[in-house]
Amino acid sequence: MADKYLELVNSGMTKKLAKLLGLPRPPRLRRYTPDTALLPGPVLVLGASARAQQLCDTLVSWGLDVRRHDAGQSKLGGIVLLLDELTDPEQLSELMLTTGAALRQLVPGARLVSFSRPALAENSPAVAAVRQGIDGLIRSLGREMRAGATANGIVLENETQLDSASALGALRFFFSGRSAYVDGQFLRVRTEYGELPADFRAPLRGKVAVVTGAARGIGADIARTLARDGAQVVLVDMPAAGDALAKVANEVGGTTLQLDVTAKDAGTRILDHALTRHGGLDLVVHNAGITRDKLLANMDAGRWDSVIAVNISAQLRMNEIFLAAKLPGLRVVSLASTSGIAGNRGQTNYAASKAGVIGMVRASAGLFAEHGGSIAAVAPGFIETEMTAKIPLGTRTVARLVLPSLMQGGLPVDVAEAIAFLGSDAAAGLNGSTLRVCGQSLVGA
Ligand code: NAD
Repeated sequence: MADKYLELVNSGMTKKLAKLLGLPRPPRLRRYTPDTALLPGPVLVLGASARAQQLCDTLVSWGLDVRRHDAGQSKLGGIVLLLDELTDPEQLSELMLTTGAALRQLVPGARLVSFSRPALAENSPAVAAVRQGIDGLIRSLGREMRAGATANGIVLENETQLDSASALGALRFFFSGRSAYVDGQFLRVRTEYGELPADFRAPLRGKVAVVTGAARGIGADIARTLARDGAQVVLVDMPAAGDALAKVANEVGGTTLQLDVTAKDAGTRILDHALTRHGGLDLVVHNAGITRDKLLANMDAGRWDSVIAVNISAQLRMNEIFLAAKLPGLRVVSLASTSGIAGNRGQTNYAASKAGVIGMVRASAGLFAEHGGSIAAVAPGFIETEMTAKIPLGTRTVARLVLPSLMQGGLPVDVAEAIAFLGSDAAAGLNGSTLRVCGQSLVGA
């Protein structure tokens, strides 16, 4: 349905009619394929930073046409703003006016990415003001970008540098079509850990990945995306979903494991399967999740308990097993939700479980880091799946067209791309983070 609307308002006569009637016209998003260029045009790097030259050298080594000054004429595929050394809000003026002029040269699907430092209580008021100001600036820019272009930021915490592996990994993610439905968001680089892949087309080559809830929806697309990126995939789902699970597994050349993730021995069975059938375990994606919506006044124990059991308790229990196994460099990515950030009527149980995921991820980062591992979460907004197809049409239309800057629901693959990135070695320095994949929805913004 969303795709049909997109098609109608973007092609031929119906495009003209939609324009005439003032209907919202969602842009086509630039999504990733291994054969498309990293950016759809040259990249302009604005601002000063101690490592600016190293960054430009890296961009050139990625095959990009890098400009340090705005030629004023040529089309641009991207803009990088180096804002990490600013010390006062007044320093923004000149740079922002130059950026404003460059925005007019962006091609559809272009990317703007800023580098900045976190605003901390121990900063001087002026330093904290400019750093926090960047937050509002980038989020507003996200809402001003057009034709599927996005604006996102990378925050360099703890003295990390803009050419550290995870900062570069985050930059590549934001540049590429992998971040098509990510807008107005920040990735926080916390440590220098991490490693860029030898082959950017197969960043998960040689890795063994487990995906729970892989029989359909977002989970099936996560399995496909991880396999495309080079991983061997173990697909986990309920025995009742066995046929659908086998179908996806055949498609991606993976193995299946039928189990209920709430079973007490789920973690041990997953670990045993990965080690005996694939010889290791490098990445776990906790995707299995359910909704049992009811206003709290009408809630029953069955609905409450099952949501908490599947969406958070099972993950806590499985993570304990994985941590106890001391697997070197284990990466875990979990599914949160914007409902857990903003709250949602009728979803007290679901929102408690998904906000719980965000808390769990933050608190588990140190534990996974002890063995070189990491953990992160993705908080999807409105994604077109069987789960959201059940939402009444009016609410669904608002969630798709009105709330997100990108004026459309996301696709399961948009969530999968973010997970594939956060589960890669290049994202190790983002340990403990939650990334929203929501098209910059106003929900919880
Ligand atoms: P879905 O209902 O289409 O698929 C979920 C899968 O998980 C199913 O195959 C199901 O059989 C499996 N599953 C459920 N309980 C299980 C259990 N106990 N053990 C093993 N497998 C189990 O859902 P989806 O829309 O693809 O969502 C996937 C994840 O993304 C969920 O965690 C969901 O909360 C989250 N999410 C989805 C959206 C969205 O818009 N669709 C938004 C935010 C977050």
